[in-house]
Amino acid sequence: MKASHLKASPPKAPGAMNTRVDYPITPVPFHSVVIKDRFWLPRLETNRTVTIPAVLRKCEEFGRVDNFRKAARQLAGLPHGPYVGRMPFEDTDVYKALEGASFSLAVHPDGALDASVDDLIRLVAGAQEPDGYLYTNRTIDPAHTLPFAGPERWSNLVMSHELYNCGHLYEAACAHYLATGKTSLLDVARRSAALIRSVFGPDARHDTCGHQIVEMGLARLYRVTGDRGFIEAARFFLEQRGRHDSRPVYMYADNPRYSQDHAPVRDQRTAVGHAVRAMYMYSGMADVAALLPEESYARALQEIWRDVVSSKIYLTGGLGARHQSEAFGDAWELPNDTAYAETCAAIGSVMWNHRLFLLTGDSSCYDVLEQTLYNGLLSGVSLSGDEFFYVNPLESDGAFRFNHGSAGRQPWFDVSCCPTNLCRFFPSLPGYVYAVAADAVYVNLFASGSADIDVEGSPVRIVQETSYPWSGAVRLRISVPERRRLRLLLRIPGWSQERILGGELYCFEKTSTEQPSLSVNGEAAGFAFEKGYAILRREWRDNDVVELKIPMPARSVLCDPRVAGNRGKAAIQRGPLVYCVEERDSGAPVDSLRLVGVDSSGSDLETRWEPGLLGGVVTVRGPGFTAVPYYAWANRGTGPMRVWLRL
Ligand SMILES: [Zn+2]
Repeated sequence: MKASHLKASPPKAPGAMNTRVDYPITPVPFHSVVIKDRFWLPRLETNRTVTIPAVLRKCEEFGRVDNFRKAARQLAGLPHGPYVGRMPFEDTDVYKALEGASFSLAVHPDGALDASVDDLIRLVAGAQEPDGYLYTNRTIDPAHTLPFAGPERWSNLVMSHELYNCGHLYEAACAHYLATGKTSLLDVARRSAALIRSVFGPDARHDTCGHQIVEMGLARLYRVTGDRGFIEAARFFLEQRGRHDSRPVYMYADNPRYSQDHAPVRDQRTAVGHAVRAMYMYSGMADVAALLPEESYARALQEIWRDVVSSKIYLTGGLGARHQSEAFGDAWELPNDTAYAETCAAIGSVMWNHRLFLLTGDSSCYDVLEQTLYNGLLSGVSLSGDEFFYVNPLESDGAFRFNHGSAGRQPWFDVSCCPTNLCRFFPSLPGYVYAVAADAVYVNLFASGSADIDVEGSPVRIVQETSYPWSGAVRLRISVPERRRLRLLLRIPGWSQERILGGELYCFEKTSTEQPSLSVNGEAAGFAFEKGYAILRREWRDNDVVELKIPMPARSVLCDPRVAGNRGKAAIQRGPLVYCVEERDSGAPVDSLRLVGVDSSGSDLETRWEPGLLGGVVTVRGPGFTAVPYYAWANRGTGPMRVWLRL
């Protein structure tokens, strides 16, 4: 499965790539990490064999792909039908499907998929106007665009998503190039980027897009091409936000904070507005902070992160309290039944927290990343891989149609950002497990498999064995060609250190008496502890074995009483997993259940491995109920569900 066929080493612009500024910590790329994990491998395989094909089929079925064909026919002067879709950003579903398929090709060669990706890219290229403009809704019929699109190019940037479409195009193009070595989609992206750099800039038009992501896309283009103009364009677009010398503030539903356009980004201190826009903006800011660099952005992000973990994050990692505007609420506004917690916001949060870790080396960012990944992100896709949550509440009565018209999962949506985002996220997951900085190797996530890591020019191989998240026992075998000194930094999860999601919003009801333990070659090992990492600094020999044991009792969690809906209630967490009770697993209505008499040893919470349930889960049994991992809910039909139970 190792991606030895990876052809593309980034082209070297003279002097650009070797000396550039970058994140102080480097992730070990996803194609150097092989996941053989019993928890993750089936999910990655389901994504490859079910979700990606399903998403590609839906893009055909709902006219997303046809829109590119029609735009190409218009450019060729041939007859064609109208644009299909309610929104002018339907093109991005195709780009995200291309990105997911490309990531998948990088680690899993597949001739048929490769060929259909090539076909799709030909369609995309055919829809690009001669000057690089690519936005099928306008190209198909310039006189009758959707209302959001505006009457002319770039005339309604607050809602047109023209630059948003570009951002997803650039992300897909870079993924395809790195996976296959082909420049077909990258060439399309470069033509598009050349156009937007001629339209927008310090000496041209001062404006930006209502929905962020072009900044992340440009940062990625910079990484791949070495052309510094791309990262400077990313900063330019970020700098336009909150500056209203040439345009009014971007508003939606009378909310001036909807698009985070209320203040210059370097001056923003709290998370506001549309949660997905926010996550993409913060991720773009982190890229610029690292790659230019831009210190004021890094400072702003620290403050915003503190705001999120102090008062605006659900226990599941979900972000966005309000259906209205898909937005963050006020501090401690975290309703469970009407939570929005969009799957895309969870994916964006994982991307943002990863970047913050790469900037700071602080494992608190990974505590948020991990808890989001195992709960509010993973809940977005069914175990079967072809049904999705757009919205991820922590409570359901089984009737309220919280999920865009349904009280359960759906195979597709009018706006289908979440399924296509999931299909592109999962293949990149192995890239979140390890990272390096000088002689330090970070082990950030626990998943069985192997990694080939370049540490200061020489190879280090790590083979990891674990049944995480069901058990906290992790075994690492270190392979080095000859004795060498290096630092191994093992993340000690915050949840094992009485710290949930990096802040004080949630706490365990009682402190644990058990602590993680660490041994090397069977002998207890001394270690330094810094920024949430156990640091083993030693001379390593081939086949040294490190064993980490993290106690993983099921425990009850309390919430800051300023969150009204959680007062007098508790939730259950075991390891990184948040649990919920579905009414089918309780002897009474979920509203009547009580989580009483539970102590820190979990003596009243019996855990049980149930291989036949929900693909194999550890259940937690409390008084009168059986709780299952939150990510797995609504896989046996719809019905009432609760994360927070009365005390
Ligand atoms: Zn979404």
